[in-house]
Amino acid sequence: MLLEKNLEKNTVSDVHMANGSVRFQSVHLNVYSFVTDGIVIDAGAVSLKKLFLDFWQEQPVDALYCTHIHEDHTGCADWFHQQLNVPVYLNETSIKEALKDGRYPLYRKLFWGTRKAFQPSPLPERFQSRHSDWVSLFTPGHSADHTAFLNQTTGQLFSGDLYVQTKTKVIMESESIPEIIDSLEHLLTYNFTEVFCSHAGYLPNGRQHLHDKLDYLRQIDTDVWHFHQQGLTVNEIQQRLFPRKYPIITLSNGQWDSQHIITSILKK
Ligand SMILES: [Zn+2]
Repeated sequence: MLLEKNLEKNTVSDVHMANGSVRFQSVHLNVYSFVTDGIVIDAGAVSLKKLFLDFWQEQPVDALYCTHIHEDHTGCADWFHQQLNVPVYLNETSIKEALKDGRYPLYRKLFWGTRKAFQPSPLPERFQSRHSDWVSLFTPGHSADHTAFLNQTTGQLFSGDLYVQTKTKVIMESESIPEIIDSLEHLLTYNFTEVFCSHAGYLPNGRQHLHDKLDYLRQIDTDVWHFHQQGLTVNEIQQRLFPRKYPIITLSNGQWDSQHIITSILKK
C-alpha cells in the first residue's frame, strides 16, 4: 500500500508533542500525541506505531490518558499497558469496546491500522501528575465518550478532537453539531489560554480558536434552520452552505460528509 508516513517532534511550554501523519493519494491525515509532566495524552495510531514508540521512549511516562476511543487516539494503548506497565485511562462508556480489537470501516483501517484490544481504567474526574492538578472534562459531540483534559496548574487544555479546525465542513455520521456546541460552551467556562489539539497541534491562543469555532457553528445552526423553515431539503441546504465535494467524502464512501452537519442539527 502506498502510504507515506511521517512524524515530527517539537516541545513547547513543557509539552512534548509528536505529530504523526499518513498520506494516501490526495488525502492527508495527521494525529498528535502529547507528553507532559509524566503523562501521555493519546496513543497515536497502529500504522504509525514505530515512529511514535521512539517518541514515547524518550519520555518518563507514569500514565496514559485517552481523549476518546477512536483508533488514531488509542492505536498503541495496548503497548502502554503491556510494555510500559502503566495505567491507561479512557471514558467509562467506551471500556467495553476497548476490550475488543477495533472494528471500523476499511478506509480507516487503511490510514490508521487496526487497534488491538486493551484494558483501560475509567477516567477519574480529577487526577495528579508529578507537579500538576488535572480535571477531566466530558465533552461529547465528536464522539459519545469524548473527554478533554485541563491542567489546572498550568492552564493548558488538551482538547482532543473537539476543535480540529474553526470552520468545520465535513463530519462523521456519528458526530453531533448541537452536542459539540454545548461542549464548547462548557469548556469555555474554565480558565485556560493555551490549547493542544490532537489534529491542529499547539494553539497559543486556543481559547480564541474555540470561541471562533463556537461562533461559526452557531451561525451554521441558524442558517440550517432558516433554510429548513423555507422548505429546502437537506441536499438543497448542503448546496447552499457546503457546495464543495471534499476528497474524504468519496474515500470514506459518505461516512464523512457535509450532509451530516445538517442532519445532526435538524435532529435536535
Ligand atoms: Zn476522533
